[in-house]
Amino acid sequence: MPICLWCSYDLTGLPEHHACPECGLEYDPKATAIELTQHVHPLAVIFFAAAFAALLAILTLRRQPSWVEVFILLVAGALVFPMLGRMWLGSGRHDRLILNRNGLNYCPSSGEIRTMPWKQVAEVRAALGNASLTVLDPEGEQLLKLRADRLGGHKHVPPAVGEIRQRREIYLAENEMDSAGQETHGG
Ligand SMILES: [Zn+2]
Repeated sequence: MPICLWCSYDLTGLPEHHACPECGLEYDPKATAIELTQHVHPLAVIFFAAAFAALLAILTLRRQPSWVEVFILLVAGALVFPMLGRMWLGSGRHDRLILNRNGLNYCPSSGEIRTMPWKQVAEVRAALGNASLTVLDPEGEQLLKLRADRLGGHKHVPPAVGEIRQRREIYLAENEMDSAGQETHGG
């Protein structure tokens, strides 16, 4: 069952190549997606930790708390933190790279989709011992840089590089075939 790689809209019954009626993303049968971890701002983490530490400090300074109370508070913190994090980051869309015939699309959970057409994607490589994935245009300008942790760790960088390169080959070949077909048809 074909579903939109971005908004999960059910695309059953629509032609092979089309834009999703829900979010407008191009769909084609060869399109794939690479999941990215959410980008958590370090300041947000510091803020939550500081707020919790302050709460703990206030409670312990006001009077002598029992060890049981401190223990309960710490356990509650450990349980609430990840929950808050998930709520705050949103449970719906996750950052994603979507590879379709339009190009390499960087899709953040909030904000605009950024499309890098395949002709602009000249080089995809793993940098600094798989510490990051970088995409360069024909002039050597950096189009995209993703740290390894956004791909789920260092070992996930080479497969992602491989997948992007492979899709690029497929879609560039497809485009060439399309334009060659049009020329023959026109001439
Ligand atoms: Zn969609």
